[in-house]
Amino acid sequence: MQNPLDKFTNQIQTLKDSNTLKRYRVVSSPQDVWFEVDGQKVLNLCSNNYLGLASHPQVRKAAIDAIEKYGVGTGAVRALSGNSILHEELEKSLALFKKTEAVIVVQSGFIANIIAVQTLLDKDDIVISDELNHASIIDAVKISQVQTKFIYPHNDMAGLEEKLKEAVQIRETQKRTDGTDKTILIITDGVFSMDGDIAPLPQIVELAKKHGALTMVDDAHGEGVLGEKGRGIVDHFHLHGQVDIEVGTLSKAFGVIGGCIAGKKDLIEFYKQKARPFAFSTGLSIPDTAALIESVKLTESGNLVEKLWENARYLKEQFGSLGFNTGESQTPITPIMIGDEQKARDLSTALFEENVFATPILFPMVAKGKARIRVMPSSAHTKEDLDYGISAFSKVGKKMGLI
Ligand code: PMP
Repeated sequence: MQNPLDKFTNQIQTLKDSNTLKRYRVVSSPQDVWFEVDGQKVLNLCSNNYLGLASHPQVRKAAIDAIEKYGVGTGAVRALSGNSILHEELEKSLALFKKTEAVIVVQSGFIANIIAVQTLLDKDDIVISDELNHASIIDAVKISQVQTKFIYPHNDMAGLEEKLKEAVQIRETQKRTDGTDKTILIITDGVFSMDGDIAPLPQIVELAKKHGALTMVDDAHGEGVLGEKGRGIVDHFHLHGQVDIEVGTLSKAFGVIGGCIAGKKDLIEFYKQKARPFAFSTGLSIPDTAALIESVKLTESGNLVEKLWENARYLKEQFGSLGFNTGESQTPITPIMIGDEQKARDLSTALFEENVFATPILFPMVAKGKARIRVMPSSAHTKEDLDYGISAFSKVGKKMGLI
């Protein structure tokens, strides 16, 4: 009989043999623009901490004050004794920020996607999903056990409508087991995290309305980035009240941890009543929640979003004039397209030697042959910080023959 653990050990060996074992570098300082990684002080060019809130003094203070007042843990799931006054306050402030009727806050963006799909749909329903949607959306659809799934080519509205027509035909000819109509749900990332391009949400909403489908957008890279004061993709396109399910993360621009779903009151109440990861898993801790309330305030009240875009524009211009290919990004996400996986890894290693931290993005995060370094500016970078990074890219890029 084989040792049942052997197959996993063998897979690790295969990764080692092919030099593709992931390396986890260790951060031993706050997530600042310059931070300590593997004991070395480096420039942070690959964090999702878009607005520099992860280590912001006011956000830290809010967490510390809340610990003094309420402690750390919440003791139970929210439906039992763990529903803090801070959870309620955060949900209200996010609803105001996003200009939606209501919000539910959950443990992560990944969980938010799981909840958003799994709670609404089951095997009898239909999902139509962009081919480049995030892994958590793919898993959410799997967990929901939906049998009829359509994938449309990335951001291709003719492709989406073709799939919608097929879905509608199924809805017209077959009922759900309980006799009601099948739900058709269109799901898209708002900002595609590896390329930085934006979903054509107005067209998606129009098609959904035309064919009686629901819409869901994952705004993980849109919150704190797009729209007035970073209110997100729905605000960017002035689509308030027209997108049924807005999923978000509280770990990127808001700098802490957690996820949320925004939408109409009844839908959010439905999630609060029925969602399994909400009902059976403890909510965010006290310091996380208090920190997030402060993060939302800072996002709305200051000029962090404008500064982020200023930095993003500068970075893209500079990389472009050096001759790097920065892809089709429409947002601060700045991919430096390399293609070959080993070259992308080598570039990242060489940059680290120049005290610049920018991780390679490899398969399965992107398709094979589409490896890149994803550069992420934040509002906290100064022009000098960005110039330091750009000159390191220039030096290493020339040495490697990339530019
Ligand atoms: N959706 C997208 C598009 C993401 O990029 C991520 C984070 N990588 C998530 C969801 C998951 O968010 P979280 O890290 O908060 O679980």
